[in-house]
Amino acid sequence: GRSSLVVGNWKMNGSLALAENWAKEFAALWRQAAPAAEAGLCVPSVFLDRLVRSLRAEGLEAVEPGAEDVSVREGSGAFTGEVSASMLRDAGARLCIVGHSERRTLFGESNASVVLKVKALAAQGIRPIVCVGETREEREAGRTSEVILAQVRAVLGGCGIESLAGGAFAYEPLWAIGSGAAASLEQIEPVHAAIRAALCEADAGASEKVRVLYGGSVKPANAAAILALPHVDGALVGGASLKAESFYGICACG
Ligand code: 13P
Repeated sequence: GRSSLVVGNWKMNGSLALAENWAKEFAALWRQAAPAAEAGLCVPSVFLDRLVRSLRAEGLEAVEPGAEDVSVREGSGAFTGEVSASMLRDAGARLCIVGHSERRTLFGESNASVVLKVKALAAQGIRPIVCVGETREEREAGRTSEVILAQVRAVLGGCGIESLAGGAFAYEPLWAIGSGAAASLEQIEPVHAAIRAALCEADAGASEKVRVLYGGSVKPANAAAILALPHVDGALVGGASLKAESFYGICACG
């Protein structure tokens, strides 16, 4: 089966100094015992090069550095403020989050732009982590699976499952993000099973190479139970990824 992949998401937090110190602290823990899960850390793109160099200096090449977003534009040109997939690759990104709910709700991200971003990343060999999730209102109206499957199918239909190879969907219920309380195991499992079924339906063979991660208030105290669920292939971790020790504690549960 798929080994667990645990990916941190710093969001708009951190600093160059934190990137360096985080790598040092994570490496010290890693030297005591390599964690069970594969680990990645997505940071603001201005910190990426420092993170990559710090990981390398610590001999931690196994930790996959990543970005939190990418331009829909490929190549280069007059697109002020944009950061392309090839620039991220140049800086050492091996992962990139796409379509996080904060980008969808606060910055107008659509399924159409998610599709363009996944294609741009695939062209550079960067593994995309595509976020999907329902609001509290949608869950209470009994629309969770409909909303999630519409998001998943829009991406699969738009860019093809092959461009997600090595990457993941991350199920992040909006109401669980930053709340301190993760969704319950009974809430997580059926959504992950539905995403897995949609992947298999798209292409049974190719679906093997796509993970389904859970995100939303994952911490060392709840990670073992979540990561043990049959259709959970890892976690996307916000707040707890800012502290190397907490993040390591989650990776150790994989
Ligand atoms: P928290 O782990 O802080 O709830 O954030 C989850 C998330 O949005 C990760 O992308």
